[in-house]
Amino acid sequence: MEFEVWWLLAIPVIFGLGWAASRFDVKSLLSESSNLPRSYFRGLNFLLNEQPDKAIDAFIEVAKLDPETTELHFALGSLFRRRGETERAIRVHQNLLSRDDLPVSEQEHALFDLGQDFLKAGLLDRAEEAFQRLQTGSFAKQAQHSVLAIYQIEKEWHKALECADRLAADGDGSSYEKEISQFHCELAQEALQRKDAAAASAEIEAALRVNPANVRAMLLRGDMLLHNGDPAGALAILSEVPRQNPTYVGFAAGRLMRAYEALGRTAEGIVHLRDMLSLHPSDDLAEVVFEKVMAQDGPDAAYAVVRDEMKRAPSVQSAVKLLTAHHEHASGSQQADLVMVREWLLQRTKNLPRYVCEQCGFRARFFYWQCPGCGGWETYVPRRADMPASS
Ligand SMILES: [Zn+2]
Repeated sequence: MEFEVWWLLAIPVIFGLGWAASRFDVKSLLSESSNLPRSYFRGLNFLLNEQPDKAIDAFIEVAKLDPETTELHFALGSLFRRRGETERAIRVHQNLLSRDDLPVSEQEHALFDLGQDFLKAGLLDRAEEAFQRLQTGSFAKQAQHSVLAIYQIEKEWHKALECADRLAADGDGSSYEKEISQFHCELAQEALQRKDAAAASAEIEAALRVNPANVRAMLLRGDMLLHNGDPAGALAILSEVPRQNPTYVGFAAGRLMRAYEALGRTAEGIVHLRDMLSLHPSDDLAEVVFEKVMAQDGPDAAYAVVRDEMKRAPSVQSAVKLLTAHHEHASGSQQADLVMVREWLLQRTKNLPRYVCEQCGFRARFFYWQCPGCGGWETYVPRRADMPASS
């Protein structure tokens, strides 16, 4: 490409146009900002200085001066909710909803936010009512998700099933298999509590049909078979647990051993469990193996089991078992010392949280299939963790 002289003339023209455009932008920005009330800048200033209470007061003033600014009302409403000031949040959203000039999309937005306020305030009926009014529109799916969460809080498992089925059929990319299968397990447990074996059995089958890898349903089925005098059937299904999800071996261990014992095959059961332990370290599994070996083969064999376990995966539980195994051989005064140390260890650790939710980090002393913190299903690692005393 050759250099042409007229390019030199074009350069100042391009610069001139750029300067004019920037001046125009700055001018329009200045005129827009001069229209904003002073309180708006005061609010911003308070926010930047991390004084949210004063910022809220300033923004409320802006909202009063210019009631048309719906964005500010929405922002204030969600800010109040997040801060736990649900009454104020509810008032903001109810005010928005009472306006006749609000476009449909903003009415739906206000109704959805109002439902969230009620949910946060624990007013579940009113929250459900708000969300159910959003059957169509851009908030319909989110509203149905919230309705599903409400049914789970209320333990309305039949309604939760219908809602999850509907959401899965709507095709939002999730099959809800894990949730639906767990809802059936909840119904099975309720049936077992009222001693309705037929209903429990039907729910367990339904849970496994939806999600064949649902370990909870497998354990429930194993329990029912053991209870109905079918240890061979229980053995068959419980033996599947390590294959489906080895992290749950600890939950299957005691049940498997009961099945072996009922079949008169205790020694074979111990070998099976020891094999499982060598593949999948688990405190709960180690505990069953330790107790059975102690009863069957004596403290020396039990000591060998727990010593290996202590070397491989040290834990408070293993330490306690190690002390128990030593206790059998110790002299009178040594026995008293070992009991003292063991009791101290147990006392120090008995109130500590043992299970951690992988989704939200919620810690609990007991295992839950549904996290009490975030509501997620099967989010707890079924393995006891030794927490430091300060946690
Ligand atoms: Zn959680």
